[in-house]
Amino acid sequence: MVKAMTESDSQYDGKFYTGVMTTGIYCLPSCKAKIPKIINVVFFASREEAIAFGLRGCKRCKSEFYPDVLPKWLPAVIDQMKNNRNGKLNEIKLTEMSGCDISTIRRYFKEHVGMSPMAFHRKLRLEYAKKLIESGDDYFSAGYNIGYESSSGFREAFRKEFGMSPGSLIDGR
Ligand SMILES: [Zn+2]
Repeated sequence: MVKAMTESDSQYDGKFYTGVMTTGIYCLPSCKAKIPKIINVVFFASREEAIAFGLRGCKRCKSEFYPDVLPKWLPAVIDQMKNNRNGKLNEIKLTEMSGCDISTIRRYFKEHVGMSPMAFHRKLRLEYAKKLIESGDDYFSAGYNIGYESSSGFREAFRKEFGMSPGSLIDGR
């Protein structure tokens, strides 16, 4: 396994996973990321075992999706979400932009992201608003920027997502 890992041998992808204790990430043997120090590596027979160990998938080799590659429509969907921060995006628009039916999109998000596409979109928007506030915006305009016309609606959604009010973020900066 050490040999397969150091040689990034893709023949062994899926046969075992390499967990790196120092980063908390698990990889496919073929991962092209920097070879970790052997002393920090634990090998797992399955992805489930690596996850049970508390490790996360690797962005580089996409170990959490193996053997599936990322669906072709996914980048278009994520782009749409990022370009429509005002919230004026719905599932119909997503299917139009990606050319993929909504049940496939929903299932993918549920399985791989753990939430619905619209919930993920809201999360992206709220994270963006949080950044705006952290860099000096008042929370009314940050909320407005992501499509909340009422500040109470924004406060509520913000508190739900981050467990704190946008006001406390302003006090803390
Ligand atoms: Zn990797």
